[in-house]
Amino acid sequence: MSILVAGGAGYIGSVTVERLSRAGHKVVVYDNLSRGHREAVPNQVTFVQGDIADSATLEKALREHKVDAVMHFCAHSQVGESVKEPFMYYQNNVQNGINLLGAMLRCDVKQFIFSSTAAVFGEPDAIPITEETAQHPTNPYGRTKWMFEQILRDCSDAHGLRSISLRYFNACGATELCGEDHTPETHLIPIVLDVAAGKRESLGIFGRDYPTQDGTCIRDYVHVSDLADAHIKALEALGKGAATNIYNLGNGQGFSVLEVVQAAEEVTSRKIPCINSPRRAGDPARLVASSDRIREELHWNPQIADLRRIIETAWKWKLEHPNGYGSAPAAAKDRFAS
Ligand code: UDP
Repeated sequence: MSILVAGGAGYIGSVTVERLSRAGHKVVVYDNLSRGHREAVPNQVTFVQGDIADSATLEKALREHKVDAVMHFCAHSQVGESVKEPFMYYQNNVQNGINLLGAMLRCDVKQFIFSSTAAVFGEPDAIPITEETAQHPTNPYGRTKWMFEQILRDCSDAHGLRSISLRYFNACGATELCGEDHTPETHLIPIVLDVAAGKRESLGIFGRDYPTQDGTCIRDYVHVSDLADAHIKALEALGKGAATNIYNLGNGQGFSVLEVVQAAEEVTSRKIPCINSPRRAGDPARLVASSDRIREELHWNPQIADLRRIIETAWKWKLEHPNGYGSAPAAAKDRFAS
């Protein structure tokens, strides 16, 4: 199949591109490089530098490469930033997303895989969180993703554009070639590893008074390559005629911030100094997924579920890329298509 991966130069997008290429699909990465990295896209993969707000460039790419399906990763995704800059989030995640759907419909491309998030749930009523758990997002980021899920349902009913929304819990880890490199970095595991690597003095723990066993927030950490595999399974399902659907994607196990720090200390054999910081706006206390639906319906089975193994992959990537993609070995991006 010919797949346009919007946001394919970003963290989860680039790992999915790696998997799609290995599975023999023709891949077109479409990315404006505002937050992604050109170095994360292998030379063998077609790259179009474009914005999803730009209908003409989008339609040209969809037609020229005879695209069968679109995967959409190019959203803003930081909770704190979304609280400070809500307009930017609604514009990119909702308005530009609608623009992408419009371009697809004009080009008669009707299969879509959407990067959604556990942030659609807000503070959940019960754990583990199923697809039916009530959704009350607590920050603009979560609200943009929740809105787009509704738009996709309506678009499916009205226009037959079938989609699968994948609600990621906490994406983490790395493959041999692709890892996490955000500026600024806000995610827990890369920050913890920066401290271990001596690039930061300490980790600020955002709140120690949550109603959890050690007072720190609990999250469900899921390896990025397992997320990528879920996209391949979703693509196959759509190819076989699956109806529009939504799946949670997590390991079903929760770890507190302090447990992540401890695991990282074990993996790196280094001390990770921590300081207490105020709570971060919009952070729910506990987010742990039930992924039973995707396990049963699409036979998704995470391969790297152990927290230490996940951190090991991220640590290896960090050691090999001390300055992120800027320090990638020159030959690395040529390797994976073979
Ligand atoms: N966190 C923290 N210090 C940091 C970054 C994150 O204590 O420097 C906490 C954050 O409050 C949350 C958890 O780590 O409870 C995971 O945060 P992350 O930003 O990685 O993912 P999120 O859950 O926001 O998607």
